[in-house]
Amino acid sequence: MIHWEAHACLPLHTEANFSPLDQLRAAGVNYVSVNVGMDMNPVSQILPVLAAFRARIAAHPERFRLVSSTAQIEQAAADGVLAVGFDLEGALPLLGQPEMVALYRDLGVRQIHFAYNRNNPVADGCHDVARGLTPLGRRMVEAVNGAGVLMDCSHTGRRCSLEIMAASSQPVVFSHANPLALSPHGRNITDEQIRACAATGGVVCISGVSAFLGSATPLAADVARHAAYVADLVGVRHVGIGLDIGFHQDGLDDRPPGDHDPAYWWPRADYQGALGNISYAPVDTWRQLPGALAHTGMAASDIALVMGNNMLRVAGQVWRQP
Ligand SMILES: [Zn+2]
Repeated sequence: MIHWEAHACLPLHTEANFSPLDQLRAAGVNYVSVNVGMDMNPVSQILPVLAAFRARIAAHPERFRLVSSTAQIEQAAADGVLAVGFDLEGALPLLGQPEMVALYRDLGVRQIHFAYNRNNPVADGCHDVARGLTPLGRRMVEAVNGAGVLMDCSHTGRRCSLEIMAASSQPVVFSHANPLALSPHGRNITDEQIRACAATGGVVCISGVSAFLGSATPLAADVARHAAYVADLVGVRHVGIGLDIGFHQDGLDDRPPGDHDPAYWWPRADYQGALGNISYAPVDTWRQLPGALAHTGMAASDIALVMGNNMLRVAGQVWRQP
């Protein structure tokens, strides 16, 4: 059984400390997708971060391994090291050029969604007005499919995500998103989106973020409740885990350069009040989850699917060797 963490955030800084990845490994995680940039981050920030993260992984082969296939993930698990891939949160780092997808893939990016909360020339964000997938966005979906990268729809506008899922020739995932039916937040996704994701053969990975779970102090039981909802709606083969823990590190300022306005990317209307103060389900959730999922009535074989074997199956289908 592979435990697959579909999304985690280290500081987007060349000096980021990798000890949180050791914590994930110690908690039983075998593969983690590490964010290397969002729409708010310029390429001049993303590329140095990618270079630093790649170098850090290469310097510690006893702890980490950058992987490009599911066979390599299973080998890393057997060897007791954490398999790592990268993800991009937004299409702006592609600079309007579909060929950039394969370039990022060659640097280790295995998963991408097209808009971070706000609209851009490729796609719509979930906290912006609906326009739909743009003509450039359709070419970008083809580029992601063609490059063997996981198409993700987290943070994406509802209508736009449905259009991406209809356009994609490959399974589409939500690497960190929760059912709207359980928690009314603009980042959460409707039953229609969950059904469309399952129809592509994809997986909805449950986030451990307080505001999206609807719990001020999120725990494994909350994550399990959301996972069980998706399993009941579309089947357990379409459920995964993407806790989306943001590992803040004192002294490392990873804000984008220039006049960065957090209220633009995280609109106050959606991120205020008790739940607006974002907190995360702790790393220990990975240890608690099998028991919490069992408590919802899930069989052991189904728990293995949710903990990571579903994402392993989908990545095995989508990823191809460069
Ligand atoms: Zn995110």
